[in-house]
Amino acid sequence: MTGKTVALIVAAGQGNRMGGPPKQFLPLGDKPVIAHSYRALLAHPAIDAVLVVIGAGQEAALEAALGPCPVVIGGVTRRESVLNGLEALAADPPARVLIHDAARPFVPGRVIDALLVALDSHEGAIPALAVADTLARNDGVLGEMMSRDHLVRVQTPQAFRFDAALAAHHSWPADEEATDDAQMVRRHGGSVALVEGDPMLDKLTYPADLAAAEARLACGRTRCATGYDVHRLVAGEELWLGGVLIPHDKGLSGHSDADVALHAITDALLGTIGAGDIGTHFPPSDPKWRGADSAQFLTHAASLIAARGGTIDFIDLTLICEAPKIGPHREAMRARIAALLALATDQVSIKATTSERLGFTGRGEGIAAQAIATVRLP
Ligand code: MG
Repeated sequence: MTGKTVALIVAAGQGNRMGGPPKQFLPLGDKPVIAHSYRALLAHPAIDAVLVVIGAGQEAALEAALGPCPVVIGGVTRRESVLNGLEALAADPPARVLIHDAARPFVPGRVIDALLVALDSHEGAIPALAVADTLARNDGVLGEMMSRDHLVRVQTPQAFRFDAALAAHHSWPADEEATDDAQMVRRHGGSVALVEGDPMLDKLTYPADLAAAEARLACGRTRCATGYDVHRLVAGEELWLGGVLIPHDKGLSGHSDADVALHAITDALLGTIGAGDIGTHFPPSDPKWRGADSAQFLTHAASLIAARGGTIDFIDLTLICEAPKIGPHREAMRARIAALLALATDQVSIKATTSERLGFTGRGEGIAAQAIATVRLP
């Protein structure tokens, strides 16, 4: 299938069983609950845009959680909220839509991949997990055991061909509530595929769920990887270093803007997920990267990590040169790199050294950069 894929995050819930503000805005790790799925969906290479549906009056809370982002105001029920989101998209309809609950913060990239593949042959696709526990009726005391054969636990994101989702919503009786969008598409005659779900997708409902999610975040596997780069210093070039334009009598030369600092960090980030190096993703043989802003290399590496459900913990960079002096530009570079990676400034460290006038850096012929990235993967 060709055409765009848009994700709709339904975040219009006003209350929660945890006390305090709606759960989608509660803090989880280093950001609010909703920011985890928003970033993961936005970073997935197959998703073109993410639209958030919130309740009336939640604009400020959303802006605080995500910064500026496309938003639609939902209705009284979840079904109305989804419909408002779909109708907002209908002006420029995508081919596919993923509908996701904001209270499910962790979205593994492989589930999105599987859902989108299934849409080639079905109107809808949902993640589902087998039921492991014994099921029984609650009759006040233990009732009959229930067979769990043929039962699955249904999760989100739920993926649909956009036309099928919109038609199912439009034909649904106004006075009837729906458990989820997949049931609506199914009742409208669509076939909905089941793909393997993931316990990471479980919904935050009770206070203990939030604690479990915190523990999940904390116990991810930590990976460190290094990156190294060199570019030649030549007269008549701009000097871009750490994403900042630095006044100097020479600049770095290369196929892109030759920002060695961003290149070293990009390679370190790619290394944490074994995704090759910067040349794998942006071959110097491709003319479209001539003079390119290296910020896009860095954000691409970060998006690949986010698509794996990973979190960048820390970046440490060392610049090796005689000139320019790095100290006066250190804070601007830290702020720029942190902004590109959606990190706090204190998660980025920048150091500089000379090489005692030895070698090519000592003679001022080039600048070398080495970086180490620390990333947590689920
Ligand atoms: Mg380079």
